[in-house]
Amino acid sequence: MKKIIKPRVESIELVVYRIVKRRMVVSIEESKHLTRLEKGFEGELLFDERIDKSSKEWLILNDLQLKSNNTEFQIDSFLITQKTIFLFEIKNYEGDYYIEGDKWYYTNGTEIQNPLTQLERSEFLIRRLLQELGYSMPVESFIIYINPDFHLYNAPRNLPIVYPTQLNRFFEKLNNIPTKVTEYHKRLAKKLISLHKDESTFTKLPKYSYEELQKGIMCVFCYSFDIIAIKRAVKCKSCDKIEDKTIAIIRSVDEYVLLFPDRKITTNDIYEWCNGIVSKKSIQRILIKNFILKGNAKSTYYIRK
Ligand SMILES: [Zn+2]
Repeated sequence: MKKIIKPRVESIELVVYRIVKRRMVVSIEESKHLTRLEKGFEGELLFDERIDKSSKEWLILNDLQLKSNNTEFQIDSFLITQKTIFLFEIKNYEGDYYIEGDKWYYTNGTEIQNPLTQLERSEFLIRRLLQELGYSMPVESFIIYINPDFHLYNAPRNLPIVYPTQLNRFFEKLNNIPTKVTEYHKRLAKKLISLHKDESTFTKLPKYSYEELQKGIMCVFCYSFDIIAIKRAVKCKSCDKIEDKTIAIIRSVDEYVLLFPDRKITTNDIYEWCNGIVSKKSIQRILIKNFILKGNAKSTYYIRK
C-alpha cells in the first residue's frame, strides 16, 4: 500500500493569486505569474496521477518546504522507498528549449533558469539535512518533464532528466525497486513533515489592498459578483445557480482571512466584505454558529474553530 503522507494542495500563493485576480485588475506580470503557477500545479497533478497508479509500498511527501544549512528549499515530490530516497522536480514546460554550455534557453532565445542547478542545490541540502537527522540513505533526484509537448535540444545523455517519452519506462523501473518501508522510514517522514514550513520566502504574493478589491460574494460556479440573497441561499444572476447561504458566507470569510490575515473577523467587516448582499443579522447568525466568539461586549470578533 502506497501512502501519501503529505498530500498535495494548492499553494497559498496560487490561491491568493486566483482570488485577487477575480476581485481586481492585476498587472500583466502578475497575470503571467498566475498562469505559470496554474500550469506548474497542473503538471504536479499529472505526475501524482502517475504515482497513484502504482501499488508499491512507499511513502510520498508532496510540496515539502524545508530549511537546511540556513537555506530554504522546496521539493515537489519526495519518495521514500526501502533503500533509496527520490527527489522529483516536476516541470510542465511545453515547446522547444535548448542548452548551450550550462545555459538554458527557450526556442526564441530567452534564457531560462538552469533547472539542473536548482536540482543539485536541493539534493545537496536534503543530503545535509538527512545527515543531521541521522539518516544515511542514498538520494537520487530527477527533473520530470511531464508535458508531452516539451522538447530539449543539445542535451547530453547523462542528465538526471526524465523526458515525456521516457515516463512510462521510468515508472516501470520505479515500480521494480524494493519498497518495503518500516518504522525507520515512517519516522523520517514524520520528522520531515514536522520541519515543513507553509510560508516561504519564495512566495511572491500579488500587490493588493482592501480598498482596491471588489467587495461582494463571488459566485462559486462562474466567479460573477452578480449575486442576490434569497431566503437560505444566494443566487447568481449570471449563471442562475444557487448556493447555500451559510456555505457562501463561510467561503467569503475564508477568502477575507487568507487575503488579510491581520484583520479581525467582525460582523460589520464581513457585511462590508460581502457588499451588503446578506443582512447583518444573517451574517452574525452564521458567524456565531461556525466560528468562536471572542472579545468583550464592547468589541467582539470571531476566530476560526
Ligand atoms: Zn454564477
